[in-house]
Amino acid sequence: MPINVAIDGPAGAGKSTIAKAAAKAFGFIYVDTGALYRSIAYYVISHGGDTKNADSVTEMLDEITPELKYIDGVQHVFVNGEDVSDKIRTPEVSMGASAVSAIPAVRSFLFELQRKIARENSVVMDGRDIGTVVLPDADVKIYLTASPEERARRRHAELLEKGNCVTFASVLADVNQRDYNDMHREIAPLKQAEDAVLCDTTDVDLKGAVEMLIGIIKEKTGAEPQNKEF
Ligand code: C5P
Repeated sequence: MPINVAIDGPAGAGKSTIAKAAAKAFGFIYVDTGALYRSIAYYVISHGGDTKNADSVTEMLDEITPELKYIDGVQHVFVNGEDVSDKIRTPEVSMGASAVSAIPAVRSFLFELQRKIARENSVVMDGRDIGTVVLPDADVKIYLTASPEERARRRHAELLEKGNCVTFASVLADVNQRDYNDMHREIAPLKQAEDAVLCDTTDVDLKGAVEMLIGIIKEKTGAEPQNKEF
């Protein structure tokens, strides 16, 4: 039976880095579901559409085939055969993803794809509604968070490193706006599942956070980390 680990939490909590490292430690597949919402936003934006217009986004879904592929153990996102993994990481696509993710048709469109991956593989899957909606029976549920300022600080450093020239204030405003959107949408809002373990990483470094996660997964599933290096 595949083991399913669900990790949810707000933007910039370090979910992807921490979840990726924990998945590697156990030899599980890491699934970044945010990349799927981003790929829809990317398609809509690059075809001149409005990510906030539910009707036109819903109509466009027929034209979109998103896929997750694993190349040397790293997740790549494809849209209609094109690898868009890097193109979906801009602030514009982040806000667009937040907008399209509030559209019910987009959520149901991506639901089965996520379920299928988890049925067929042991996964660490990260997102906003994994423990609450996508994998309500996950073996382990973790809600990973940090203060908005700390999350904005991390995101800002990441964007600067990638050569994006943005101010801290604008990144913090984006973080707050996305938190608001994700927590207040009608469908599958971001919230901690009742049976999720809360991990706050505001004052914890990356290594400490990964160790915390590995400890929880080990305790809840009995699985032993196969890979000591992460
Ligand atoms: O995690 P990431 O920042 O890449 O996610 C981009 C956007 O996709 C989020 O702001 C959120 O609105 C949406 N999302 C979601 N449900 C998920 C994963 C991401 O609504 N499971």
